[in-house]
Amino acid sequence: MLPFQSIGEAEAALGRNLTAAEVMWFRYSAGMHDFWLYAHNIAFLILVYSLAPLPVALVELFRPKSIDKYKLQPKVRHPASTVLQCYKDVVRTFILAVGPLQLFSYPTIKGVGIRTGLPLPTGWEVAAQLAVYFLVEDYFNYWIHRWLHGKWGYENIHRVHHEFTAPIGFAAPYAHWAEVLILGFPAFLGPAIVPGHIVTFWLWMALRHVEAIETHCGYDFPQTPTKYIPFYGGAEYHDYHHYVGGQSHSNFASVFTYCDYIYGTDKGYRYQKEHLAKLREIWKTNDLNEEVNAPLVKYE
Ligand SMILES: [Zn+2]
Ligand SMILES: [Zn+2]
Repeated sequence: MLPFQSIGEAEAALGRNLTAAEVMWFRYSAGMHDFWLYAHNIAFLILVYSLAPLPVALVELFRPKSIDKYKLQPKVRHPASTVLQCYKDVVRTFILAVGPLQLFSYPTIKGVGIRTGLPLPTGWEVAAQLAVYFLVEDYFNYWIHRWLHGKWGYENIHRVHHEFTAPIGFAAPYAHWAEVLILGFPAFLGPAIVPGHIVTFWLWMALRHVEAIETHCGYDFPQTPTKYIPFYGGAEYHDYHHYVGGQSHSNFASVFTYCDYIYGTDKGYRYQKEHLAKLREIWKTNDLNEEVNAPLVKYE
């Protein structure tokens, strides 16, 4: 809720005209309680989760040849019924676990200083804060994920997420409700350390989910824009983690690759990658173009 009665009042307080985005924000949020602005998060979460995995899910279903060759585990196909069941389970977890978490975490959000007012943050402020959020979340997620691969953590919690040995976008948040709640902690830590505007917070949550969906999509597309982000893991990287399964002690990181490199938990993956690079050379010499164009790490 904004402390101004009119746009004129807001402009007088800021000492300048409002930008078009700020006028829109004023009109949308001026009379809305901060709690409801925060509660938008769960709606965005379900919206992003329902739409972002759809394109690749359709590829999985109809298998157009030109795209299908990028599938990382070509022998594993999930029928529509499995995808639908996964979707239902995740939405239920969102409503029953993340929803109540939203209610109870509202005072914390206010306490750490996430603001809802004017001015809106600049593009640079948003970008810098998002970078911090991604780095903080990635680091703590790495250690929690490693703990979840211990005997107790895996058997009681994390094995649910690993039911998909060949992941799909819809399976990105498919996990035990406890895991969804535990991993909310590193996601919230960045905004708690460097609090920003609620719009940045929404954007962070949406981007983090889009990133997880891309990482779990099961395809390694050569033109993916995220390939240009330094130390970015991506689909091939996390697919290997699922492929190895419960015994996996490789590729724990959720976004970047540097933690696995520093702490030596990417050795199996690197060995596999080098081995396949050698095979690729052999395919090249033997003129087997189909394989040469396939993803570098292709699990069969
Ligand atoms: Zn895992
Ligand atoms: Zn995963």
